[in-house]
Amino acid sequence: MVRVRFAPSPTGYLHVGGARTALFNWLYARNQGGTFILRIEDTDQERSTQESIDQIVKAMTWLGLDWDEYYRQTDRTDVHLVAAKSLLDNGSAYEQDGAWWFKVPPGETVVHDILAGDVTFNHDQIKDFVIRRSDGTFVYNFVVVVDDADMEITHVIRGDDHLTNTPKQIMLYRALGRKLPKFAHLPMILGPDRTRLSKRHGVTSVLEYRRRGFLPEAMVNFFARLGWSHGDQEVFTRDELVKLFSLKRIGSSASVFDEEKLRWLNQQHMKLAAPKRLVDLLRPFVVELGSVTEEMWNEAGDERLVQGAELLRHRCHTLVDLAKMMHILFPVEIEVEEEVKLDDRQREVIASICDAFSQASSFAHDDVERLLRGALAAQGAKLKDVAHAIRVTVTGSAVGPGLFDMLSVIGKKIVVTRLRKLIRR
Ligand code: GLU
Repeated sequence: MVRVRFAPSPTGYLHVGGARTALFNWLYARNQGGTFILRIEDTDQERSTQESIDQIVKAMTWLGLDWDEYYRQTDRTDVHLVAAKSLLDNGSAYEQDGAWWFKVPPGETVVHDILAGDVTFNHDQIKDFVIRRSDGTFVYNFVVVVDDADMEITHVIRGDDHLTNTPKQIMLYRALGRKLPKFAHLPMILGPDRTRLSKRHGVTSVLEYRRRGFLPEAMVNFFARLGWSHGDQEVFTRDELVKLFSLKRIGSSASVFDEEKLRWLNQQHMKLAAPKRLVDLLRPFVVELGSVTEEMWNEAGDERLVQGAELLRHRCHTLVDLAKMMHILFPVEIEVEEEVKLDDRQREVIASICDAFSQASSFAHDDVERLLRGALAAQGAKLKDVAHAIRVTVTGSAVGPGLFDMLSVIGKKIVVTRLRKLIRR
């Protein structure tokens, strides 16, 4: 039975690399019907914070990476002590200046990595290392082995920055007489300039992407494609990922973090999302932008908001984009892409359209079309004479979904108000 773990050190936010590692472990566990463990590696007490633990838990919950077992490494200090003493007892470790050191035996260690292949480490290059500090706290390379062994981890899946730790850990498994797990070190993630991804690239915590209007399923899709692939498919639902994921399909070269691709994926997932859910997610973004208040949003009614979101989402990359667009459904000043100038003739035609609209008892798509065409015919005018001016004035933008749909969703009152204002200018 597969047992895997994500073992973050709570010394900061959950970042992109960590989230990718968490996801790959989670996907593997779910694909295999195995167990996914979250283990907080908080033995570095000076740098670990509760706030960071809370943030990691929040980010994983947002991404939908649920765990089956949860541990905190500092709860296991007694167990670590027993294991460390056993190494002193069997001569694998020694005490020096209060710290306990592991004695690196001569020879070499070969790491059989599922992804990197066999990597040989000559012990000449590895010095004796501390397993327990003089203040009584334990060191990562030691506790990770005791915990992985006790928790019967079958596959250690983590970033390849840990590959150089692995020979030390293998020596410890052997000295402790414990069974080795399999190792899979994930190729690193690069920034657009092809150096290791870091804060310098402006790529921040996972929760920052939530704040910027990304959907968790888009993030999960994006993280999955940082190293894993399935043919040339790009868009995956969570269920598809669980069904298709395998360690074999993880590439051996580094992948590049491409924010444009993330935005594109988010757009795809916004199109796939249930419109009602989008509307629920939009509320805080709309309120944050100001001008449309929470009361206005609530009063608009779900039906209208759902219709609006369904029409407007196609051109949006994030919830922030869509929240901005949703403004056009409200009686507020909207941002207009270009200034509309009318000649006298257009002014006359739009005035008669306004008259026709204002007498409407129903303003559904077909009513809008009928009234508009009626007014145009009476004026001997064509739709193309005024369509652009109407669209830009009412929706703020020269391109977008069908005009009649848009006018219908925005509603008679707002449409007529915006058009009358245009005529008066
Ligand atoms: N606490 C380590 C880290 O955050 C875990 C590494 C591992 O998965 O073994 O890098």
